[in-house]
Amino acid sequence: MRASAYPLVAAEEAAALVLERTPVLPGERVHLRDAAGRVLASDLRAPNALPAHPSSAVDGYAVRSADAGRTLRVVGESAAGRPLEGSIQPGTAARLLTGGVVPDGADTVVMVEEVVEAGETVTVPAGLQPGVNFHRPGADVKQGELVLRAGSELGPAEIGLAAALGWPELEVHRRPRIALLSTGDELVEVGTEPGRGQITDSNRWALLAALRDAGAEVELLGIAPDEPEPLRTLVESALSRAEVLVTSGGVSVGTHDLVKPLLESLGTVHIGRVKLKPGKPFTFATIPGRATIPGRPSIPLLPDSPPGGGRERLAFGLPGFPVSSLVTFEVFVRPALRKMQGHTNVQRPTLPVRLGYDARASGDRTEYQRVTLHREGKELVAETTGSQSSSRLMSLAGAHALVRVPPGDQGFKAGTVLEALILSLP
Ligand code: AMP
Ligand code: MG
Repeated sequence: MRASAYPLVAAEEAAALVLERTPVLPGERVHLRDAAGRVLASDLRAPNALPAHPSSAVDGYAVRSADAGRTLRVVGESAAGRPLEGSIQPGTAARLLTGGVVPDGADTVVMVEEVVEAGETVTVPAGLQPGVNFHRPGADVKQGELVLRAGSELGPAEIGLAAALGWPELEVHRRPRIALLSTGDELVEVGTEPGRGQITDSNRWALLAALRDAGAEVELLGIAPDEPEPLRTLVESALSRAEVLVTSGGVSVGTHDLVKPLLESLGTVHIGRVKLKPGKPFTFATIPGRATIPGRPSIPLLPDSPPGGGRERLAFGLPGFPVSSLVTFEVFVRPALRKMQGHTNVQRPTLPVRLGYDARASGDRTEYQRVTLHREGKELVAETTGSQSSSRLMSLAGAHALVRVPPGDQGFKAGTVLEALILSLP
């Protein structure tokens, strides 16, 4: 073992640095069927008004309010999708069904319950109000109105609105392409019986789920041995296709930890250690679009790189311990992936929670303790998920939140209110 040469960076500072280096990806057009969860890359203005025509809100009659109290001749019917040809002259009315276009000439709609029908005539009550019982053109959306801003996340209502306004496709930010790799000689594929000293690779599947949940497209690279050359070959080939590399393991200071030296040979390691528990060996590097550093290997440009230069690629070296890899994913990787996809709000929501247990602080590191939450009156109360060992995935399974325990020598007694990163609410 040797001491790490990398300075310990405060977790907040490291998270800010990662976001600063993270690009927002360019736009692409997608059909509405594939638009859920995507983020608009440009403003949307209404090309037409909604509704486009005055449309009846009730079953009844389209009339002129000046004809109040009279018996009128019924000249036809206007139903949804089947408008009346012609207009309403003084002394006439048109039968209307809900959704039917209110014909020209009429300025109000009388509900069927308020009239007396007799053959081809209808008697309407006295004192009719103009402008009632129908939706005016542009009442929902005015022509030219800004309906959705760039940066809006597309959910069911936004997609419905786009369809209503006549857009089959929308311009959204591209999803990031990620290459995911586990490292370690001790790892075996899930489903294979581990021999003595071996363990099953669980990080790849946990991180695949986390990456997909964050909107990424993932290429699985499998398990790399703790040997420099096979690891380099895998990573270099992956970086010619993916704009983000995510690895687990191989970032601590043991002699078999090869990820940092490899990333240093390919680009710049900005962060090699953070004041975070769990997750101290978290590593972040950038790799130039084109290898411009003399003597360094040249990685092919990404296929859709702009002419004249490639885009910078990001590399996240996550620690091997399963909880450390997922917590560092939450703190550093997920916000970056959201930024790439154009989200304006890249962070998980945070809420104050009251500790239901005594929390110990861990010296100079911010600790993200895994908790379940329950409501007591208007408050959220946090209970520990038990041993917070970085190898114990049970501490994260079913957890509702990560309580941010500030660094320091003093602990925090039960009853203290701290901020928590909310993963899901009870
Ligand atoms: P490392 O950072 O490579 O020293 O890994 C630290 C520890 O994390 C290892 O000793 C394993 O117990 C565990 N570990 C590393 N990679 C994985 C993985 N892919 N799946 C599950 N556990 C892992
Ligand atoms: Mg290892």
